[in-house]
Amino acid sequence: MFSPDDTIVAIATPVGRGGLGIVRISGPGACDVASRMLVRNAPLSPRHATFTRVHSARTGRDQPIDEVIATWFPAPRSYTGEHVVELSAHGSPVILQEVLHSAIDAGARLARPGEFTFRAFVNGKIDLVQAEAVADLIDAVTPLQAQVAFDQLDGTLTAQIAGLDAQLLDLIARLEASLDFPDEGYHFIEPQAVASSVTRVIAALDGLLNASVRGRVIREGATVVIAGRPNVGKSSLFNALLGHARAIVDETAGTTRDLITETCDIEGVKITLVDTAGDRETTDRIELEGVWRGTRAREVADLIVVVLDGADALTDDDARLLNGTPTGTRVVVANKSDRPAAWHRDDAVTVSAVTGDGVESLRQTIVARLGGGEALHDAPSISNVRHTALLERARAHLTQACEAAAQDRASEEFVLADLHAARASIGEVVGAQTGDEVLRHIFDRFCIGK
Ligand code: GDP
Repeated sequence: MFSPDDTIVAIATPVGRGGLGIVRISGPGACDVASRMLVRNAPLSPRHATFTRVHSARTGRDQPIDEVIATWFPAPRSYTGEHVVELSAHGSPVILQEVLHSAIDAGARLARPGEFTFRAFVNGKIDLVQAEAVADLIDAVTPLQAQVAFDQLDGTLTAQIAGLDAQLLDLIARLEASLDFPDEGYHFIEPQAVASSVTRVIAALDGLLNASVRGRVIREGATVVIAGRPNVGKSSLFNALLGHARAIVDETAGTTRDLITETCDIEGVKITLVDTAGDRETTDRIELEGVWRGTRAREVADLIVVVLDGADALTDDDARLLNGTPTGTRVVVANKSDRPAAWHRDDAVTVSAVTGDGVESLRQTIVARLGGGEALHDAPSISNVRHTALLERARAHLTQACEAAAQDRASEEFVLADLHAARASIGEVVGAQTGDEVLRHIFDRFCIGK
């Protein structure tokens, strides 16, 4: 999908102005390209920061573009595994564009999105999990997201996958040895031992898959919709959870008539918080549209915060909302705890959106609910749906292998076929056997320069 032989160049730092901007050149001709752009005659020393000037390869040395720090990372000890030259210039978009064009005039080609990281993958510097982690790390908007991505870049999941793969490989080798000597039957490994070894691998997979619920919430974030009849304090709670006054709060019922959406960080999780119109029977055309939009928002929410007025008797509208929201995906809130309580429910989190009392505990409840009842502080190893789907597929093959091995007259061939299939799925996570289409999809997420 990418040609790996030519020398590529791109601006590696974000668009916009900054103190510094970096232009990265990678490929077999990186040093030649750099030497045609740099004022300095002597070659760059490996891994040394060299202060020099860069000029336009077209107009020549008399017209320097900027002062730069040039660093040559010789292959294979570079990000891509190829020769890489990084030019650190002043972070002006005009200058960086000129440096980029100079590199192109000097023989480099503009890199495609994700091409640097793709080359790192092709050259074995990182596996597919780590390449995906680079994109996640760059995209992270909360510290917890960054931590999960960094752990994956650091090889936590890669090591766990390698451990599972080694166990399967060992089993396969012993079963194949048994096949090579058919008269001996299960000489190299007994069926019971096969079943128990496979069960151990399944248990390890289950550990990863269970944590993936939390991982996915951390990686992708979640949509939390605030619902309730008018005047229970939805907008006040929306503002309290956000930490600033975004929605209009008023004692007039029906103030919020449309969805109000804001993104915030709750306990490290990227939450899209949605305030909805008060849910009540109405004939007002605009309010009716607002109520309908609120209903739609609840349908697609990962979690619904059902707000009730704790200081007022529960009404038919409250009951209708409680009956219409599944207990598994809702948190019930008794708001206005600064006033005397009118009722009690065991499942309600008591808060006051006005004084802030209980709001912290509500944040924790929201995040714990999204994480399947577990706190999200410990970064799980797995967070990507592609990985989850592949590990689930591996698990299904292993379950079949286990069942086949447990049968008295089981054939090693059947067991082996499933073990091989499980290994292939696990291998696809790290990119051992991954088709072009999947690779294209993964690297399409990157932007140029990554
Ligand atoms: P919404 O219609 O459900 O969005 O409710 P609002 O947030 O607009 O609040 C309606 C009224 O209830 C406003 O007058 C708020 O000041 C008041 N209110 C909201 N939360 C609290 C609370 O925790 N305690 C008290 N005492 N009043 C509250």
